[in-house]
Formats: sequence, structure tokens, C-alpha cells
Amino acid sequence: MHHFAYRNGRLHAEGVDIETIVAAVGTPVYIYSSATFERHYTVFRDAMPAGSHVFYAMKANANLGVLATLARIGAGADTVSEGEIRKAMAAGIPADRIVFSGVGKTEAELSHAVSVGVYQINIESEGELEALSRVATRLGRTQNAVFRVNPDIGAGGHAKITTGSDANKFGISFSEAERLYAKGSNLPGIRIKGLALHIGSQILEFESMGEAFAKVRGLVERLRAEGHPVERLDLGGGVGVPYKMQPPFDYGPDVIHRYAAMIRSVLAGLDIELGFEPGRVIAANAGILVARALYVNKRTDRQFLVVDAAMNDLVRPAMYEAYHEIWPVREAGPDTPTATYDVVGPICETGDTFTTERRLPVIHPGDLIAFKSAGAYGATMASTYNQRLLVPEVLVRGDKFAVTRPRQSYDDLIGQDRLAAWQS
Ligand SMILES: *Cc1c(COP(=O)(O)O)cnc(C)c1O
Repeated sequence: MHHFAYRNGRLHAEGVDIETIVAAVGTPVYIYSSATFERHYTVFRDAMPAGSHVFYAMKANANLGVLATLARIGAGADTVSEGEIRKAMAAGIPADRIVFSGVGKTEAELSHAVSVGVYQINIESEGELEALSRVATRLGRTQNAVFRVNPDIGAGGHAKITTGSDANKFGISFSEAERLYAKGSNLPGIRIKGLALHIGSQILEFESMGEAFAKVRGLVERLRAEGHPVERLDLGGGVGVPYKMQPPFDYGPDVIHRYAAMIRSVLAGLDIELGFEPGRVIAANAGILVARALYVNKRTDRQFLVVDAAMNDLVRPAMYEAYHEIWPVREAGPDTPTATYDVVGPICETGDTFTTERRLPVIHPGDLIAFKSAGAYGATMASTYNQRLLVPEVLVRGDKFAVTRPRQSYDDLIGQDRLAAWQS
């Protein structure tokens, strides 16, 4: 459930008219709903077994205002870089609610994570195990860590977001887990607390996840039989969201409850502390990207709707062939005629296409449109490609809104470069 809806024929985020925000901030602009973030987080947390930890995967949406909203209701953060650790803490998420994940942590990053005292580091290779031991020993610390195992089970929407197969770069291989667990348990500076896995993203059927969890449960039991007190199991993120919301798609808290029921059944009686790293399911439907139509470019067999947002603002369609619903900001009535459009941005790449042959209410130059479900992997993946300004972000709460990331200025954009000494 989300809080973007029409009121008196105009699209609102909670109690705020989208056109009011656009009048103040311009387009393109990301708009987030606090109530939706809070609701998704709360539904997820409350569905999971008591005592579970929820670490919001902030790579989905790392806006400071969003992080502070989640921090206030107790969320932890799953981070994948020093920058994310620093930003989570700046937003008020304490280090003891931060997990540090990722295949390529540098020694400098590990050192930062250990110094601030993160809750857990998810180790993804033997080399990283040794590096962490070295770093923590040098700092005179003992760092809690788990091994991310690769269960060799693929799942997820698109090849680029599947992570749990042996062909993917993530985690230690299943066959190595026992050897590395024993090795890690004897290294100085580290306390191995358990296991982690994350097999992919945008997963809406929980069979393959259940298979992976059952496989990891078996590993926990073998490790315990070998004398290791395995206390923690981090089940990753990956729960999908309904990008296409036309009926009969059935989605709601029900999906989270089915996921939780599967976990309770697969892990029944294991007696272990669970952790979760949901990103998309918290953030995706809590944000929209609003753009303005610039031109309608008609061809003999199609028409292009050129808008002022582009792949540098929202790359998911270009990168993952992702689908986003498109809503006109002024509600279309039952009598509004429709037309078929290829919706494209201004960037000099054919890939800068949001959708092809989409049936939409007729849109005129100057009209505003909203890309739905853009709260996850939207602004965090934005760039300045084509020297376009980084897109601004707005946070709504009730009938208030705030610009939680202003639009970049041209001075900032150009001022980041320097001439070489021989050029000045
Ligand atoms: C990306 C990622 C997540 C979040 O995945 P979602 O599909 O957004 O829930 C969680 N854990 C790890 C290790 C990740 O890389």
C-alpha cells in the first residue's frame, strides 16, 4: 500500500498536491512519502519472528531525509561502502544497527567499519576474512562477522539482479563454508557469529528462496555439530514489489506474510537470531519520479513522447528493461482519449527509452507525468550523464514537504572539474 492518490483530479503524495511541489522545485523531481516508507518498514518488521533485526538496504534509497525517517522508527542499515556507513550514521542510525556487506570492501573501508563498531561485517571471500582479521587486530578490536554463503540457487527478475548462483561473484562457495568457518573461528580480531545469504532481487515467488534457506539451515546444523555456536542468520533482502499494478495482481502485506510464513516453516525449531536486509520492498512504492512532457514527435507508425527526465535520472528501464507505471498528474477521466507512446528522454542514446508502445491517456506538451514505483534504485543510481544536473529529491510528510536534496547547480556541476596545471 502506498500514499500516492488522486484528490479532486490531481495526484497527491499524502496531503500534498504534486503540482505544488513542481511549482517550487521544477522537474524532473523525485517525491517520497514518509508514511509509505514507515508503513512498509513496520509491516515487514512486525511480520518477522520476534527478536529479528531489520537492516534497511540503503543502496535502494539513501536520501538523508528517508534514512532519518526510518532511523526514527528503529531501522538498522545494510551498507555496502564507507560512504553508506557514514551517511547512515549522519542520518541517526547508530553503528550497532549497521551491517557492512559487499564483495569488494577495501582495507580502508574495513578499518572505518571496525573503528566505528558496526554490528556485523558480512565476509564474502577468504581474502576478505584475512584482511578483516589483520585490520581488526591492528586496531585492537574484535569485530563480529558472518560469512555470506552462495547457495548456488538463482532467483530474481532479471539476469543482472540474480546473485545467488555459483556463476555470480557473491559470497563464499557452499563447499568452502565449513573450512572457512573453522579458519575464521581461529583468527584473531574476529568473532564469527553465523551466516548470511542474499540470492537476488525482485523475487515474488518464494520457492527458490525457501530452497536456499533450507540449504543454509542444513549448513547451520552441520556447523553446530562440528562445535561452532552459530547464533545469527542473515537472510538478505530481495522481496519483490508489484511494478505492474493492474488487476488481478494480488499484492499487499499478504506477500510479506507469505514470506514470513515460509521462513517460519523452513527454519522451524532452529533457534537462531534472524536478520533481514530489505531494500526494494521498503522503498520502491514509496517514491515517484515526476517529469514534464516536452514534445510529441510523430512518425508514420509510432509517436515519441519526449519528457524532461532521462536515463541518467532513472536508469532502471535502460539497465534492466524495467517496467514503471506512468500516471498523468492531472487525473484522466473516463472520457479522456488514449494514445500509444514510446516515452523517451532527451539523452543521446536509443537506450534512453522509458517504455515502448504504452497505451496512456493523451498527453500534451507541458503536461506532468509520474513514473510510479521509482523510490528504489532511482535517485541512488542517478548520474550527470550528458552534463545534466543531478535530480532533486523531495520528502513529504502529511501536508508538508521538504527538499531533502536540492537540484544541483551548474556551478557545482562544472566546478567539480579542474584544469591541469599546463592548461591554466
Ligand atoms: C541489494 C542487496 C540487498 C537489498 O536487495 P532488495 O532486493 O532491494 O531487497 C540486500 N542485501 C544485499 C547483500 C544486497 O546486495
